[in-house]
Order: sequence, then C-alpha cells, then structure tokens
Amino acid sequence: MEITSIHRPKIVVIGSCNTDMVVKANRLPVPGETILGGTFYMNPGGKGANQAIAASRLGAEVTFISKIGYDLFGLQALEIYKSEKINTDFIFTDQKSPSGVALISVDSFGENSIIVAPGASRSLSLEDIDKAKEKIKEADIVLMQLEVPLETVEYAASIANEYGKKVILNPAPASTLSDSFLSNVHTILPNRIEAEMLSGIKVMDTESAHRAAEAIGEKGIENVVITLGKDGAYVKEKDEFTMIPAKEVETIDTTGAGDVFCGAFSVHLSEGHSLAEAVRFANAAAALAVTRIGAQSAIPYKREVIV
Ligand code: ATP
Repeated sequence: MEITSIHRPKIVVIGSCNTDMVVKANRLPVPGETILGGTFYMNPGGKGANQAIAASRLGAEVTFISKIGYDLFGLQALEIYKSEKINTDFIFTDQKSPSGVALISVDSFGENSIIVAPGASRSLSLEDIDKAKEKIKEADIVLMQLEVPLETVEYAASIANEYGKKVILNPAPASTLSDSFLSNVHTILPNRIEAEMLSGIKVMDTESAHRAAEAIGEKGIENVVITLGKDGAYVKEKDEFTMIPAKEVETIDTTGAGDVFCGAFSVHLSEGHSLAEAVRFANAAAALAVTRIGAQSAIPYKREVIV
C-alpha cells in the first residue's frame, strides 16, 4: 500500500505501571527457606508502561492512562514516562495503595518465580477513564492489556468504540473474556498461552494457530494476531489467514518482546498501513528487542527498525 503522508499517530495506552525487583541466586528457595542471593536490580516495568514507551519510541504521540501509588516507585516511574515524551496527565495517584511491584527471583538457569503485587494498578477505575474521555476521543488507536481491572478495560473499550476508535487488546495475563467485550475489539494480540485460554486450542504449529485464530474470531473479533515467539505471528484478517515469520536474530533476552510487538503494531496500523504490514513492522521491532537485555531498556527507536 502506498503511503503518501505519514502523520504522527495519537495512541492512548491504558494499563499497568510496575517496578520489577529482581534478585539473582544459584537456585530458588523452597517454601520456608531463606537463602543468600547475588545481584539485586530494579527495573521499571508493567505491560502498560512497556507498551506506552514502545509506542512513543516508535513514533506515536502517546497518552498513558494508569495509576501509581503515592511513593517513590510511582514518582520514579512518572519521571521515566516524562523523559520518554509520554503525556502523563492521566496517570492518577492512589493515596491509599502502593505502586505496583513484581518480586522476581531468577536462578542460575534463568528460571524465575514471580509475585506481582498490583497495588495502585488495581484501583484504576471507571471514573478515571471518564476523566480521560477527551483523550480517547482524539486518539487514533486505544491499546490495552489486562493488568488493570477487567471492568475498567471493558468500559474503556466500550467508550472507545462509541467514538469509533480502533481498540487493540493484548489479553495478558491470560483470562476468559466476555463476547460483549470482545465485540468492541478491532484486533486482539494474544501469545500462544493466551490464545489457548481464549480458544481452548493448544497452539503448537501453524495448523493449531489457524484453528485457534478461527475460534477466537468466532467470538466477534475481525482481526486476530497470535504471536508465536521466534516463529513470528499467525494472522487472521477478516477471512484471510497468513503466517508472517519472525526475523532471524541472535536471541539474548526475550523479556518484553510481546510488549514491543503490541506497541509497534499499534503505531504502524495507526499510520495507515495494512494489518499485515503492521505485523511485519512489529516482528522487526520485537526482533531487535530480543537482541538486547531487559524490557524497557531493549525497546527500539523508530529509526532502528528495518522491516
Ligand atoms: P514476552 O512475554 O517474552 O514479552 P510474549 O509471550 O508476549 O513475549 P512472544 O510470542 O514470545 O510474546 O513474542 C512476541 C513477538 O516477539 C513475536 O511475535 C516475534 O515477533 C518476536 N520474537 C519473540 N521471540 C523472538 C525470537 N527469538 N526471535 C525473533 N523474534 C522474536
């Protein structure tokens, strides 16, 4: 498709802000046990935040609707978003809850165990969405995940739909979702696990991805993009099905690859490209991210992405 003028798309991201607190150790402790670990590091995270930063670095004007606690983690996150040129006017503060944190232990094989305390993310409310209605009205695309309350995401999707906006849903973490919610979604972007949760079909290869995409589509969504890690993505666009392979790269760390994919897909689609082109761009951006360590630190800038 010929694109004559590319405008800077407006994307509203609705989702979580977390701080990941990671301790490396030789092995994971068993219940009741205390062990001495090694390196400790803190990384900003949360699917909402990662996708907002990805969309901003890849060229969109981003408004992030989220909730932080009245604490240092929240304030630090806010500073990061500002430095990423994200509009933070609709990042609300919950005076009663701490900011979201993820406590992550990683053993010497890279195996991890994670507990997420969503904190303030859990109190992002319908009223908060109401306060940001004007931004949703101005947006080209509204991108959301499921790390904030489901009723808030459902409400935001219905408002966006009323305004005729495309809603992109990354249904993570995996959940069962009502058909009425899904009917407000333009494109759903599940990974293998989430696709299985939505379709009841274990996604192992192209054939099972096809069946899963078909089954998810039957819930009233026109477009389904199942991300398949190093294999790329399986795409159902209306009645057409295509496998779009990933780029072959040297994989260093896949953390956050899915978030880069979602941010990149949304930016490219809102620039007027076709769904398949948006998936190719998202594959290229996410492939760059897996060649680098970390989640937010690995997110590429637009100038780096070569499809
Ligand atoms: P994560 O939880 O690690 O963020 P995810 O499970 O949400 O990821 P995946 O399906 O694993 O999502 O990956 C998303 C996209 O990232 C893939 O569709 C692909 O474009 C890219 N990707 C992931 N792993 C690789 C890899 N090893 N090589 C190239 N591209 C990859």
